[in-house]
Amino acid sequence: MAAQETDDHKYVYDFSEGNKDLKDLLGGKGANLAEMTNLGLPVPPGFTITTEACQAYLATGREPDGLAGQIEAHLEALEREMGKRLGDPGDPLLVSVRSGAKFSMPGMMETVLNVGLNDQSVVGLSAQAGGNGRFAWDSYRRLIQMFGKTVCEVPGEEFEHALDEVKSARGTHNDLDLDADDLRGLVDAYKKIFAKHTGREFPQQPREQLDLAIRAVFESWNAERAVLYRRQERIPADLGTAVNVVTMVFGNLGPDSGTGVAFTRDPGSGAQGIYGDYLANAQGEDVVAGIRNTVPLQELERLDKSSYDELLSIMARLEEHYRDLCDIEFTIERGKLWMLQTRVGKRTAAAAFVIAGQLVDEGLIDLDEALHRVNGAQLAQLMFPRFQLDHEFEAVATGIGASPGAASGAVVFTSARAVELAAEGKSVILVRRETNPDDLNGMIAAKGILTSRGGKTSHAAVVARGMGKTCVSGADEIDVNVPAKRFTVAGRTVTEGDVVSIDGTTGKVYLGEVPVMPSEVVQYFEGSLDAEHVDNPLVRAVHRIMTHADGKRRLAVRTNADTGADAARARRFGAEGIGLCRTEHMFLGDRRELVERLILARAEGERGEALAALLPLQRADFEEIFREMDGLPVTVRLIDPPLHEFLPPLEQLAVNVAVAQERGEDVAKEEALLAAVRRMHEENPMLGLRGVRLGLVIPGLFAMQVRAIAEAAVAVVRAGGVARPEIMVPLVGAVQELETVRAEAERIIAEVVGDSGVEVLIGTMIEVPRAALTAGQIAEAAEFFSFGTNDLTQMGWGFSRDDVEGAFFWRYLELGIFGISPFESIDRDGVGRLVRIAAEEGRAARPGLKLGVCGEHGGDPDSVHFFHEVGLDYVSCSPFRVPVARLEAGRAAVQTDGSDSR
Ligand code: ADP
Ligand code: MG
Ligand code: MG
Repeated sequence: MAAQETDDHKYVYDFSEGNKDLKDLLGGKGANLAEMTNLGLPVPPGFTITTEACQAYLATGREPDGLAGQIEAHLEALEREMGKRLGDPGDPLLVSVRSGAKFSMPGMMETVLNVGLNDQSVVGLSAQAGGNGRFAWDSYRRLIQMFGKTVCEVPGEEFEHALDEVKSARGTHNDLDLDADDLRGLVDAYKKIFAKHTGREFPQQPREQLDLAIRAVFESWNAERAVLYRRQERIPADLGTAVNVVTMVFGNLGPDSGTGVAFTRDPGSGAQGIYGDYLANAQGEDVVAGIRNTVPLQELERLDKSSYDELLSIMARLEEHYRDLCDIEFTIERGKLWMLQTRVGKRTAAAAFVIAGQLVDEGLIDLDEALHRVNGAQLAQLMFPRFQLDHEFEAVATGIGASPGAASGAVVFTSARAVELAAEGKSVILVRRETNPDDLNGMIAAKGILTSRGGKTSHAAVVARGMGKTCVSGADEIDVNVPAKRFTVAGRTVTEGDVVSIDGTTGKVYLGEVPVMPSEVVQYFEGSLDAEHVDNPLVRAVHRIMTHADGKRRLAVRTNADTGADAARARRFGAEGIGLCRTEHMFLGDRRELVERLILARAEGERGEALAALLPLQRADFEEIFREMDGLPVTVRLIDPPLHEFLPPLEQLAVNVAVAQERGEDVAKEEALLAAVRRMHEENPMLGLRGVRLGLVIPGLFAMQVRAIAEAAVAVVRAGGVARPEIMVPLVGAVQELETVRAEAERIIAEVVGDSGVEVLIGTMIEVPRAALTAGQIAEAAEFFSFGTNDLTQMGWGFSRDDVEGAFFWRYLELGIFGISPFESIDRDGVGRLVRIAAEEGRAARPGLKLGVCGEHGGDPDSVHFFHEVGLDYVSCSPFRVPVARLEAGRAAVQTDGSDSR
């Protein structure tokens, strides 16, 4: 339809003017309504007010110039098309006013249905519906309720109480038992509630209703729960929401009408089939709110075969068009099907893998695309443990497996209590009849969520899936009593604090704490499940996508491992070497005594004895690791922490001395230790005598470690293995430090290695900003660099992780100074820049310089992409993150090497 624009900036788009690629401007809902309109699907006509209009409104506090006129023009066009006018007392046009941001924020923002009804047009609507007064008054009371709650902040419970009162006066629990008179009475009650809270009558002017509703949707972008959700989901705060004005279609016209939601595949498992919920004689929000129990979508075949068939064919069409799982909202008005929403649907981690595999089989996407449809965070989720069930545990209830995982914890019934107990470090399961957006804090705090009502598409289910949190919904055997803080199930009462376990895959609920076992995906990675032969679609899909990722990635993936056992496990997970073997633990346990002797040594000879005693122990440690990593490189970091960390704490020593003196024992050694601890005390141990500085100050310490490494490598090679040691010097800031260590190390290596054929590389960590900035010089003395991004972050920002995470990070995240903690994901602009400089200047000085990263960033998806972009050779991460890093390295490679490379 042609709308006259009154201002040159276009703020309003008819559905026929948009398409699915305009999500930034029209929001996801608007863009997809436009797309479906263009596909010729039955979408009620309407228009979308852009996110730009919202941004302008939020910035200035008023509608931008020209918006009112454009809305007017589009409304007139809509009235012409529908042959009805907004507010016409005889035959009113009604519309819904719906939020819709670029990224879906389920239930976070506002929708008002039935806009345009007032005291006159409700009568006209009834007449138009063949004298169906029940329908007209039901629609009107819904308008007052939704408008009151969302536009005027009238507490929603007041409306719910009034509704409950009418129902109990009628002796029923079901709204369908209320007749036109009941609902007319309810409208009066609602209007009183409205007037009481707002100090004004419910607005009778349809255009005023419309304008206020639009404004409320704009403002809902900054509602507290929306802000919280965005932070949780890392959605930028400045996008704004679009507003969709959609001609109403009515699912509450009688038993031949209804409303529902559906998925084109199971969003829980990815299995093909028909998944959805349907509710006869209802308006849309009833399904999502879980107010009445829905029936499975398959039932619709019996209730209305032709609508059902049409729906199925539309779903097939949408899948083919979007080449992905879609979810949809629909309404049937007296046998006529209307599409109210679609989008590429959220899904569980397992479903993401399974569906990506299926779409490849169906020829809709290729393997590169499949690799993009999954991510490392999902894979990490699939590696969570599962419940280990035996006869002792019998489910007391079965609900819907709404979001997978295995969670045990103390039962709580309110969001506030969940937050409280979680802050004390307790695991909690939030139990509700149904959740609503106000429960978000509690859902974030809880290990799992259990509801007695609502389907796969209820608020609890959708939000939990988004967060990757275990959820069982609609466990209707459970009778929840929130005020009494208890629920009853199978004749038993569970009160606040009792432990339950919920399985978000099977929907089963257990009393007590059920033990857990490794997931199938972990069993596959460990080699105990053979993907080629197992009849498990998830394992097969993971195998296929991982194989593709391995084939595409340019980054190698190593692991951080300090023991033979860790090394072996990581190798099974696909590690291609060790990027960081810390030697600290080799000085602990019964070796502490030797370290004490080393520290207390007064003469060269005493120190030499202590080191000589440590040498064979270290050599044995390295031999074990080299054997496990046979043929693969192993980077061993020379000792890094300050030596006083190996001594007992000051207070303890002081007490020991005092007690021994009291008893008249010989306290010479305790006193010497105490004096050493006092002498070695540092104000800032992180910036103190550690790393390479130790090696330069304590004669023979690094030499002993270098000798142990070289001797272990020779022993492994002589036994027929292949050892590829790489010696890494920590905390270097100046090339001279490295040169000094290197000269001594080379002498020892030459002496030990002889003609064994063992080759030992010597390199350094880049973890002090000065090292990054003088990388060109340092590279002259280093065969490899390994970025220690934890220290580089600490020293780059000038704060120590242990001190600051609890102290002020929350505030920085709140203020947006950090989008995410720089310890979790690399700070590309600052710390990342240091990495980039060091990589470029290091390689310029020494072509072929090997570059890697060790530290937790090596297993963080976004950081892996960054390291790929910078051109590092490998990342190294903890054994369990190895598969995640492999997958993300593959995704990064496909992204930049693919046809649409940037
Ligand atoms: P949300 O984003 O929270 O799902 P929606 O804007 O999709 O909110 O609307 C809430 C409910 O109202 C949905 O079930 C939707 O299908 C229904 N609805 C929205 N607009 C209309 C309309 N024009 N006619 C009938 N039902 C509608
Ligand atoms: Mg919706
Ligand atoms: Mg370090």
